Amino acid sequence: MEFPSIKRNILLNPGPSTTTDTVKYAQVVPDICPREKEFAGLMKGLREDLVRIVHGDTQKYTSVLFCGSGTLNIDVCLNSLLPAGKKILVVNNGAYSTRAVEICEHYGMPHIDLKFPVDQQPDLALVEKTLRDNPDIALVHTTHNETGTGILNPIREIGALAHRYGAVFTVDTTSTYAMRPIDIEADNIDFCMASAQKGLMAMTGLSFVVGNRALIEASAAYPTRSYYCNLFLQYDYFEKTGEMHFTPPVQTIYAALQALKEYWAEGEEAKWARHTRVFNAIHAGLDELGFRDAVRREWQSGLVVSVVYPDDPNWNFEKVHNYCYERGFTIYPGKISTTNTFRLCALGAIDEADIRDFFVVFRAALKELGVQTPALYNN
Ligand SMILES: *Cc1c(COP(=O)(O)O)cnc(C)c1O
Repeated sequence: MEFPSIKRNILLNPGPSTTTDTVKYAQVVPDICPREKEFAGLMKGLREDLVRIVHGDTQKYTSVLFCGSGTLNIDVCLNSLLPAGKKILVVNNGAYSTRAVEICEHYGMPHIDLKFPVDQQPDLALVEKTLRDNPDIALVHTTHNETGTGILNPIREIGALAHRYGAVFTVDTTSTYAMRPIDIEADNIDFCMASAQKGLMAMTGLSFVVGNRALIEASAAYPTRSYYCNLFLQYDYFEKTGEMHFTPPVQTIYAALQALKEYWAEGEEAKWARHTRVFNAIHAGLDELGFRDAVRREWQSGLVVSVVYPDDPNWNFEKVHNYCYERGFTIYPGKISTTNTFRLCALGAIDEADIRDFFVVFRAALKELGVQTPALYNN
């Protein structure tokens, strides 16, 4: 069937990302009851593909699907994988690890919030000291790419420390999965996670945890802190029936299946190279206008650029945003409490030509507002 093309918006926000029309239209399918075997068959293939994206052995690792946004995965991992009487260590240098801390607080789970500045990578010696001093830590959690700033965390090293001290390692890979290559075993990850609308370039509403099957099975004996959001319960239901415990996001799953086809067709390496091109084009455009990064460039994830607001009295993020938005480009506010920043991200089905088009519009917005270039910074 032929479908008309859909207006293409360039989303430079940190997800949901720009999708292809083929992914959008994959949702237009005959109605189906998701309890049919045909649908369960689709989810089986999907679950295996999600493990393959992080190079996991599908015997050792599995994926568990949930209906919800990405935060649900953090909730599920933390509330499900903590044995009674044990503690969680959150290696925290940003907004998303802070969210993990809030989840611990919400469930009343014992935890240590090991805080580092948002523009700094965590101090591994301090992580190790904390593990050594607290033998009751059973779970270490951190964020791979802190999407609020775009800082990349050394997960392989943190994972090695977690394992040395006998803890399980869960990583929020929501903003790297299916973009920046991950090898679940080599990266010392026990559980990682994402939602379909970021790296996979599919639709919102489907999230998934990819992790170690034996550890999920062991967690059957741990306290159950949530009814809907329990990892073992959902896993067990999938293993026994091939289905989600409760109604899955049917059309979103069809879109994810199409997105996976496109993922394999593009290929891990080529896709990462494309995101890198986009990232470099964002930097080139900003450099030319004299804008400053909030995070040291060599620490950046290659997916999110956090830009410091210029000290120009005419600078107005809201107005620049609106000017760009009306022309099909979405830019996004920052997430650093101490510095005013905005973000330009390299997610989605876009390429460097889209970034060049964006900078034509961005420049015009600056001109219209009378913002001077090179951008003005007082110090
Ligand atoms: C997007 C994102 C999430 C999930 O946010 P939702 O609003 O729940 O989709 C979680 N962690 C990271 C690092 C993210 O970038």
